[in-house]
Amino acid sequence: MAERPYIVGNWKMNGTRAMLSEARAIDRGAQRYMKVEVAIAPPFTLIHAVHKEAEQIGVGAQDCHPGEGGAHTGDISAPMIADSGAKFVVLGHSERRGDHGESDELIARKIDAAIDAGLRIILCCGESLETRDAGEAENFVLGQLKAALPDIADAGERLTIAYEPIWAIGTGRTAGAEDILQMHGAIRELLGETYGEDAANTIRILYGGSVKPDNAGEILSLENVGGALVGGASLSAESFLGIVNAAS
Ligand code: PGA
Repeated sequence: MAERPYIVGNWKMNGTRAMLSEARAIDRGAQRYMKVEVAIAPPFTLIHAVHKEAEQIGVGAQDCHPGEGGAHTGDISAPMIADSGAKFVVLGHSERRGDHGESDELIARKIDAAIDAGLRIILCCGESLETRDAGEAENFVLGQLKAALPDIADAGERLTIAYEPIWAIGTGRTAGAEDILQMHGAIRELLGETYGEDAANTIRILYGGSVKPDNAGEILSLENVGGALVGGASLSAESFLGIVNAAS
């Protein structure tokens, strides 16, 4: 496990102001686990409110537009996200790639915009079951990363990678320990080639896909797993803090 594991809740398109009590409970609960970095990415509409509630946890966004501002109805720019109190943005999630046809090239532009706005980045990657069955999972995932890894000197502080096999997201299926070890090892190697060993070793590689309190301990104990990106189980403080507890 990483020196300071990173447990991030991705609320996706869930949450109204009624969920602020859950965010507060997560924040208060996280204060018992100072050795774990805890964060949530609520929908845009709740970022500022969660930020105002949060004493301990980090708050981030789930996407940003690649531009600074202007005539883009319905979009939110990285500087606007930073202004709302968010400190990071999740980019390249498979649901964005799938639902909105986001390409590696667009994701790379979003990463640049986020960096310019001073945000940290959680860059997601992951293969479909079809790609895995074809024996192409590693090539595919490394290709996604090569196309998007930013050329920055402080990658160790600014960048987190999240490996989320698409077939494990929201399905109750998690990847096996062998698959996780192999993929995280391959990602670590690519990070070393890109940023040098020292910086690469400080970049946390999260696992995501049906992480729950009862499987988190095993997943988080694997080499090169620096934390978890959690969807469904982050919507209740009780289950999310169960995962934080497993990381401590
Ligand atoms: P899940 O989602 O935990 O509900 O599988 C993970 C994610 O998509 O980040």
